[in-house]
Amino acid sequence: MRTIPFSKVDREIKKHDQAIQKYKADLKQKLQLLVNKGSLKGPDIMYVKELLKVANNIITAKPATLATYEKKFRRIISPETMKTKAKQKFRTLLINTLGYSERRKDFYPHYFKDIGIGACIYCNSMLTVTVEKIIRKKRKTGAQARFQVDHYLPKSEYPCFSISLYNLYPTCASCNNSKGSHKVQFQLYAEDARIKNSGFYFELNMVSVGVYLLYRDSGLIDFEFIEPKIAGKNVKSFNEVFAVEGIYKTQKGIAEELILKAEVYTPAYKKLLAGSFPKIFTSASITDRLIIGNYTSESDLHKRPMAKFMIDIAIQLGLI
Ligand SMILES: [Zn+2]
Repeated sequence: MRTIPFSKVDREIKKHDQAIQKYKADLKQKLQLLVNKGSLKGPDIMYVKELLKVANNIITAKPATLATYEKKFRRIISPETMKTKAKQKFRTLLINTLGYSERRKDFYPHYFKDIGIGACIYCNSMLTVTVEKIIRKKRKTGAQARFQVDHYLPKSEYPCFSISLYNLYPTCASCNNSKGSHKVQFQLYAEDARIKNSGFYFELNMVSVGVYLLYRDSGLIDFEFIEPKIAGKNVKSFNEVFAVEGIYKTQKGIAEELILKAEVYTPAYKKLLAGSFPKIFTSASITDRLIIGNYTSESDLHKRPMAKFMIDIAIQLGLI
């Protein structure tokens, strides 16, 4: 629901440069071996050779570059052909050669943790975190990804981009399963200057708030998940693919708490609190965060589940 700026990704890519260089050298070597082996024929070998040509950039290429590569690859093997059963063996061979499974274990957990992803980038309702896990046999701890990786350009259609960092979207298992190869109108990464309001937001039905305050039944609270207008064929909405509105409607209790807090935390009371506890309420933003019990800035959305929902509702209620 919220874009990550290129500058943030670039910083992490630089930080992980040593590992990335190693993976790059490894994949070039494996691709070359595959070419030398001579077992692939026709478009398959052309595809591998094209991959070898761009092997220096394929891991870190930005979306615009990936789009130029996409044109070349689809001319060799179209996405429609690539996803057929007949190509399954070749697809698997490519994904294995590129080292996707290994990177899922040894690189992505650290990388996405450093980028600061703690909640599913589609639904923002589930944790997507990297945890320290005890490995009993080895008597040590290791990092484990408690998230799945969705590919913006699906790996069933474009196995060539299975390890391209700008093509990887960390998601919860439910969203990843629901997405499959559906297209949704959302790009996770963008040029810093182009990041603006995402166009996704939750909107409380204020009449329902009045009715709730009268009868105190949270079931009466109503809201909508509004999305940007869909452009392009075969593109689906978040509500259609991820059932976002449905997920949040099971959590009306959160909206209820915010409605009640808005009754209590008036601007005057917030001022009084800040004056009475100056060491705790050190700034307006920390006051807001303590009151709603979540992050309050859009740029912090990825840090914790439910942040988007709580921010939108709290702003609408004038709570923050
Ligand atoms: Zn999700």
